[in-house]
Amino acid sequence: MEGEEKLIEFISRDVAQKVLQLWGGKPEQIRKRLGDKVHIVELQNRLTSIILFTMGMKAAVMGAGQTVGRAIASYCTLCCDVARKVKEFRNCFSLEEVQNCELIKLLKELFEVTGLGILSVTEFEKDERIAIKIEECVECAGLPNIGKKVCYYMCGYLEGMFSVFWDKEVKCREKKCFAKGNGFCEFEIEVIE
Ligand SMILES: [Zn+2]
Repeated sequence: MEGEEKLIEFISRDVAQKVLQLWGGKPEQIRKRLGDKVHIVELQNRLTSIILFTMGMKAAVMGAGQTVGRAIASYCTLCCDVARKVKEFRNCFSLEEVQNCELIKLLKELFEVTGLGILSVTEFEKDERIAIKIEECVECAGLPNIGKKVCYYMCGYLEGMFSVFWDKEVKCREKKCFAKGNGFCEFEIEVIE
């Protein structure tokens, strides 16, 4: 488990730091010659083929997203300013309040700067559930309508993040997906207790 533990540590610190640098507009370049951008087609090939053609991989891909989402949210929450935003989010009562809260604005920025998609909140019940819409989702945008949801990594990623923001066990499921013919993805995250 040594290598795995090292990777988790890396994700929760270095990757989160790099995301923050990206956010600040000054990312450290990892690949000197090729640059750091990867084409979406390459990414989708990997994720969707793993999910669709390898039995039992949905849970694994979702678990990977969950680990990364949780690690990044935990790291960011160490910063007092983000911790304050999380507190504000927890105190929101209405959908309108949550749509305008700073934590959601921050998430929108994070999703856009890293190219994950265009995030918005569509439904909200305090301490119970939140629905997140992702347009131009990195995992499925442009895929043909195959009548199936494919965004298991994103699903896990959101689950991991909101388990930190709520400090509770949560369950996320994808309700709508571009690959299911919906035009965008929508995820429902519910507190389980
Ligand atoms: Zn999707």
